[in-house]
This record gives sequence, C-alpha cells and structure tokens, in this order.
Amino acid sequence: MRTARAEPERLRAFIGREARAAGFDMVAFTTPDAAPSAPARLAEFLSEGRHGSMEWMAETAMRRARPRALWPDVRSIVMLGMNYGPEEDPLPVLEQRDRAAISVYARNRDYHDLIKGRLKQVAGKLAAKAGEDVKVFVDTAPVMEKPLAAAAGLGWQGKHTNLVSRELGSWLFLGSIFTTVEIAPDRPETDHCGSCRACLDICPTEAFPAPYQLDARRCISYLTIEHKGPIPHEFRAKMGNRIYGCDDCLAVCPWNKFARTASEAKLQAREDLKAPALADLLDLDDRAFRAFFSGSPVKRIGRDRFVRNVLIAAGNSDARDLIPRCERLARDEAPLVRGAAVWALSRLLDPAAFDALARRLRPIEGDPEVQAEWDRAEQEVLA
Ligand code: SF4
Repeated sequence: MRTARAEPERLRAFIGREARAAGFDMVAFTTPDAAPSAPARLAEFLSEGRHGSMEWMAETAMRRARPRALWPDVRSIVMLGMNYGPEEDPLPVLEQRDRAAISVYARNRDYHDLIKGRLKQVAGKLAAKAGEDVKVFVDTAPVMEKPLAAAAGLGWQGKHTNLVSRELGSWLFLGSIFTTVEIAPDRPETDHCGSCRACLDICPTEAFPAPYQLDARRCISYLTIEHKGPIPHEFRAKMGNRIYGCDDCLAVCPWNKFARTASEAKLQAREDLKAPALADLLDLDDRAFRAFFSGSPVKRIGRDRFVRNVLIAAGNSDARDLIPRCERLARDEAPLVRGAAVWALSRLLDPAAFDALARRLRPIEGDPEVQAEWDRAEQEVLA
C-alpha cells in the first residue's frame, strides 16, 4: 500500500488490515475524479463500436465514466486487488488440440460471488468504524475499475488495457468500495510497459488497433463469452481450442514474473477444468452442463453458446474421433449448435463424406442461418 498523506492514517491502516484479513492482496485509495481521461477513452471506444453487442456499456456510459454520476455523495474510493495467478503456464494447453482451453479466471468459482462477499465484509467494517455510508462494486456494476485502480496506484493499464501490477503482474481481480468518508488518496502508478509489445504481438485475432486500445469485437474473450450469435467466420480458425475466454495477452506479460500463485483453494483451478477433453464437453446436454459448471462463471453463457464454442474447437482439432458427436450435434435442437456443428464437420470429414452428409441434412434444415452454414461449407469443401 502506498501512502500519500498522514491523515487520517489510522483509518487507512484499519482498512488495509481488514482488506488483507478478508483475503485481498492489494488495497489503495483514490477519489471519484482521479481518472479524468477515462470518460474520453470510453467515449472513443463506444463511438468506434468496439463494444460490439455489449449494449449495456453504452447504456451505462454516463455512470460508468463518472463515479459521482453513479453515487453523488461518494468522496473516496477504496480499490482492492486479489491475485489469481495460475499454478501453471496456461499457454501449453493451446497445443493440445483435442482438449479445451478455459480462461484461468473461470477455472473455479465465479469470482464475482467470491469477491462481492469479501468486499461487503470490508465495507461493513469501514462503515461501522467511520460511521459513514458505503457501497460495493465488482465488475458487473458500471464502474471503470481499471482506470480507478491505476489512479489509486494498484498498477497501470498495460498495452493490453488490463491492469498490470509490479507486485502481481497481470493476474488481478479488482473490486471497489465507494464511501462518503474522506480518505487521503494514494499516488497513481506510472506506466512501466516501456517498449514491450508482447501482449499485442501474441493476440491471435489482432484485437488491438493500437497499444492501449482494444476492439472487443475481435477479442476471443468477447466472442466466446459475450457474443450470442454464430462466431464470425474470420475468427473461427484463430480461436484454436479456446472455448471460454483467452489468456494469451495476460500470460505473456513480463511482469508476471513477480506474480504469485493464488494461494487460496477457491482461486486454484479445478482439476477437471484445466484441460477437459472436447469429447466430454460435446456430450453435455443442458442438465449436465448446469451440473458440471455449477458455481462457475462458465454457466452464465448457457449450454448452447458453450457447445457452439466447443464445436469450433472440434473443427480446429483434427480429432476425427469427434465426428460422431459433431454429427449428432448437427441435428441438435438449437440452430446455434447445428450451425457450428456444420462448420466443424466441414473441417473434420473428407469432402466426399461431407457432401454425402450435406445431401441428407441440408434439405431438412429449416433455419436460414444454418442453411447458409451448409451452403458456405459445401462451397469451401468442394472448392
Ligand atoms: Fe487477443 Fe486473447 Fe488478449 Fe483478446 S484476450 S486481446 S484475443 S490475446
């Protein structure tokens, strides 16, 4: 924790102790106006349409850009960070094409649930000690946590736009407590990216139009989690076996050499989510999906979107033993699943077998988008 002013030092020290007791690794303080360039950056992101279908970002832009629009009485913001550094490098699983890569943050419990309870615990102590009001936010709320965390000195927004900490690298969950108490702010952290561009260069989909700018529409995290329709064709091969999120730009950050492995059991990866077999994931019906991902953030995207992603990975796998499963999913109830299955089969089957299957299934397909998948796949396979 960085100290800027002496008063009220006791309250700052008290919050620091309570935050650490609740399991946070970093805590620092800032003010609602401490990130003055954030509204302009957000406006540019939105005006370029880089938020894709995340309309909620535009709808909450006013409150998101200005903490006082969210809560006029806020005078100080406590920013907290929790390390979720993985035990192993998450990149080698990308080479195991019959296995799935799930983003590190999603390999255990939903961190929103985990952090929210702890933020409330710290906020409750703060409110009782200071006799003032508090509100807690994790990133489902319209708060620009990354610029506020940078303003508080927890780290800086790296070229990949996420927060980078000198102590914890790029693996950080963030949360904030707004309060009516006046607390001396910390100094902002400065940018230590230097000439490094590892995160920009590794991105498989060229999602960074420039350093410090992200086009979410091209980001695999957005495409696999937020995007509801079929995955755009230009990104399918580039997704590889990433079926939920992408860690590439975080994982190559050189500041991770200072990261610690998440010590708590709740932040450590579930063994069965480290590199699950695509075959097993393709077998999940709605009930099995909900049971397998109970308590996990993956559950939020629902079975159909999830299986869509797994089918794209299957199409990128060369694992011909997945063909029977993909054929079954080409008859699935959900058009989203059927369309992705068509694409996977067009990559796994030899042209004659695909043509034979298309002759059977294309005539009975009633959904225009899936019909278009068949037509496009047939053209590509027979070209
Ligand atoms: Fe690119 Fe992956 Fe980073 Fe998204 S998460 S910007 S796809 S490297």
